[in-house]
Amino acid sequence: MRLSDEDIEDRLNVCNEATPGPWGWRGNDNGLVELRGPGHFGPYDRRLISAVRGEPCFTYGDYVGVVENPSACENCIKAWATRDYDGEYPCLKPENLNTIWVTDPDPMVLRPINQWAVRERHYRSNIIDVTHPDAAHIAAYDPTTVREMLLEILMLRGMAYTAACALDSVTSDCTDAETNHHVGLLVKGLLGAANRQETPDERR
Ligand SMILES: [Zn+2]
Repeated sequence: MRLSDEDIEDRLNVCNEATPGPWGWRGNDNGLVELRGPGHFGPYDRRLISAVRGEPCFTYGDYVGVVENPSACENCIKAWATRDYDGEYPCLKPENLNTIWVTDPDPMVLRPINQWAVRERHYRSNIIDVTHPDAAHIAAYDPTTVREMLLEILMLRGMAYTAACALDSVTSDCTDAETNHHVGLLVKGLLGAANRQETPDERR
């Protein structure tokens, strides 16, 4: 499918509204792994896609002690009953892993994104990347990168148009309006990017 100029403009608008790149997966492979972008304190400081822990099976109160919540899973109830906290009865509620779940292409089942996490050092659990194909794609095609690609397409289309007009100068039907259209798209894309970058921290 060939993108029309309007398609490109629509996608440029999406890029201009989104948080600028670079994007990357960061976190801890023993816990939460989330998609982050540039923020106040560093390139991967701002949370873009995260997960919050669901209601735990048990809660602990200062005066009431241990409370079994109505939604507690059978494994947590067993673990509490047998005082087995070392993993024979792992929690059955996936949200309690406190991470993002992605579809494993083989077989097609949901698994914790931690399975594709790349550790910063083999002995530390800090995450510097995630190799799951969909996760890698999301991080690689951050809005800044995609915008640059789209602007490149607009520029090349403008150059191709100009070249075609030059080659066909005798019978050329290239009009000023069409030339202005090509230049206008490029300028709008560039201005949109500039406006977005003036306020990078507005969503914090
Ligand atoms: Zn549980």
